[in-house]
Amino acid sequence: MNDPRLTPLAAALPATAPFVGPEAQERAQNQAFIARLGANESAFGPSSKAVLAMGAATPDIWKYGDPENHDLRVALAEHHGVGPEHIAVDAGIDTLMGVIVRLFVGAGEAVVTSDGTYPTLDYHVTGHGGVIHKVPYQNDKTNPAALVAKAIETGAKLIYLANPDNPMGSWHEATALTRAFADLPEHAILLLDEAYGEFAPDRTLPPVDTADRRILRLRTFSKAYGMAGARVGYAIGAAETLVHFDKVRNHFGMNRVAQVGALAALKDRAWLDHVVNSTARARERLSWIAGSNGLMPLASATNFVTVDCGAGPDFAAAVKDALIARGIFIRMPFAPPGNRCIRIGAGTPADLDHLARALPLALQDARAIIG
Ligand SMILES: *Cc1c(COP(=O)(O)O)cnc(C)c1O
Repeated sequence: MNDPRLTPLAAALPATAPFVGPEAQERAQNQAFIARLGANESAFGPSSKAVLAMGAATPDIWKYGDPENHDLRVALAEHHGVGPEHIAVDAGIDTLMGVIVRLFVGAGEAVVTSDGTYPTLDYHVTGHGGVIHKVPYQNDKTNPAALVAKAIETGAKLIYLANPDNPMGSWHEATALTRAFADLPEHAILLLDEAYGEFAPDRTLPPVDTADRRILRLRTFSKAYGMAGARVGYAIGAAETLVHFDKVRNHFGMNRVAQVGALAALKDRAWLDHVVNSTARARERLSWIAGSNGLMPLASATNFVTVDCGAGPDFAAAVKDALIARGIFIRMPFAPPGNRCIRIGAGTPADLDHLARALPLALQDARAIIG
């Protein structure tokens, strides 16, 4: 629809809904999901201490949150062994990506990412007139050396890499990343998205080095901390990079209750450990369920397992749709070759009981359609 009031850029953008929410699907099916395993949320929920702290903070909701996020930044800084000037808090990684793109990507400027990886950065870049260059996965993993080579070739200032990766669940050891990114140009910024960092095995996350101006790490309370709806994420990086965030960020964008909740969640190390351990057990059982149904689970360092359905994208989509029709909310990777897979969250034992019952039937449904 042409609207002359739009900017030329906005007029040229396609209307897209990158992720159809489970709520929309529930409305369309007129039925609630019995297992919510499609959005990589933590089915184990947040720390009860965070819940209590948020409840106690609710009467103060008439106040704006602290625009400097002071207490949370100080606690996060201590957690990572850096100064608070090396931490920037905002309403989730997705929001931080918007701030970063607005600061560093001008019209026509190049950004490098992996084809099929977490797509939110692409929407920000395209929305600001930047140009996305994609590098293929190699063996279902991001390819750090190829990303760097592409950045050099295109002159990109921004390079995106999720480690561990969504949607494939794959990961690189820190040493391999550090080696590949040694060649990163001085003028470039690597956005190292560690949304699943808490789940990853030892030696996956490179040590934090805030002296390296080329790296910005992105972390979130949405996954292992179980607070996706609170919207809290943060960047770790050089102070002289983060200081620019104040130029464009939404200073009162943080929910006051979420600030308090994240602080309490950060202090509850026992709950985080419990979630990480429960998630690891759930991944094992989920992989077993997939394997015993003739599917091939991929190794995962996240809170989901990506499962190769052993045929093309049409079959994977049919399995996904059949699970959805049977009340199990899941998603699948968008791009080839990942789209031969479905992606299933490492949910609670009850969630996985539902999955174990539904999957054989969903496979029958899918085979009846695809043959
Ligand atoms: C879920 C996810 C995010 C979103 O993080 P928020 O803090 O909720 O915005 C970012 N990156 C990756 C790779 C994710 O999977």
